[in-house]
Amino acid sequence: MDGLPQTFRLETTDPTLADPSLTSPMLPSPVMAGFGFGMQRTLRSAISCVGVGLHGGRRVALTLRPAPAGSGFVVRRTDLIHADGSAGVDIPARFDHVIDTRLCTVLGLPGHPEARVGTVEHVLAALAGCGVHNAVVEVDGPEMPILDGSSSDFVFLIDCAGTVEQDLPVEAIEVLRPVRVSHGESYAELRPRANGFDMSVSIAFDATAIGWQALTLQLGPGVFRSRLARARTFTMASEVEHLRAAGLALGGSLDNAVVVDGAAVLNPAGLRMPDEFVRHKLLDAVGDLALAGAPLRGRYVAHRPGHALNNQLLRALFADDANWRPAVPAESIAGWQIRLPAAAAPA
Ligand SMILES: [Zn+2]
Repeated sequence: MDGLPQTFRLETTDPTLADPSLTSPMLPSPVMAGFGFGMQRTLRSAISCVGVGLHGGRRVALTLRPAPAGSGFVVRRTDLIHADGSAGVDIPARFDHVIDTRLCTVLGLPGHPEARVGTVEHVLAALAGCGVHNAVVEVDGPEMPILDGSSSDFVFLIDCAGTVEQDLPVEAIEVLRPVRVSHGESYAELRPRANGFDMSVSIAFDATAIGWQALTLQLGPGVFRSRLARARTFTMASEVEHLRAAGLALGGSLDNAVVVDGAAVLNPAGLRMPDEFVRHKLLDAVGDLALAGAPLRGRYVAHRPGHALNNQLLRALFADDANWRPAVPAESIAGWQIRLPAAAAPA
């Protein structure tokens, strides 16, 4: 098997699964709702904004829409026409639809080069970080608006729309054994954890304005919002010219990225928090790991991670069925058909 999540049925021969009283320590609690247990949630209503794409510099309109339980996140290009003549092309927001990770995470449809959307990580981080499980993210161009370079404005949109509980339990993915990917000094790991999801990330940069930073936290209601959402993307001043020369980062400015030159932060207002850089790395990981298709139950440990490594990590996790299993509230299991979003052909 390729190990991708498919439709599957949980057997209830294990008495600890069939009898919630035997698993009381694992019963869903309000603390865990939206982060591995409880019922799925979607947006209460649609909400829109307009911004520019970081790399193309084009104006793009974004709309976040409610989606049915079990559908996960879908990115929709509203400016493209489907092969059947209908308006809009849908791209499942899943790890197996990631087609480029060099500057940001790009989703696409195999065989349809125009059907791509870049910089999906910040909006997906906001959705996942706010405990949303199902949503359609509409955009009328090839990349998401960068807004202020963080997830802050997306969280604001989600708060304005509100969220509602749906009629299916959360279908979390439990990490059963360590999975590790590395590239040079960089690595990323998923490890088993009894419940919830925590993250431990360190970074090391030659630029002394960044230097070495590390942060460990458990993702839960309010944590993404209070600790990660406002951390902006960052780049080196030397890279900006390089990117511009390559026709990239055309929408980039000090209004949507932290720019570092050695010991200096070039943004006049400075940083939003001293460890804004590592916090943004956690934010990116929340967005990239949302492409698992369901919340993860486990521990993410990484040093100098990036979008490529995060995507390789999910591919490695799902490459072997022994690495993971579905995790749902005990009282929900008996007789339920657990359905993760259907996997499509690998890119
Ligand atoms: Zn980012």
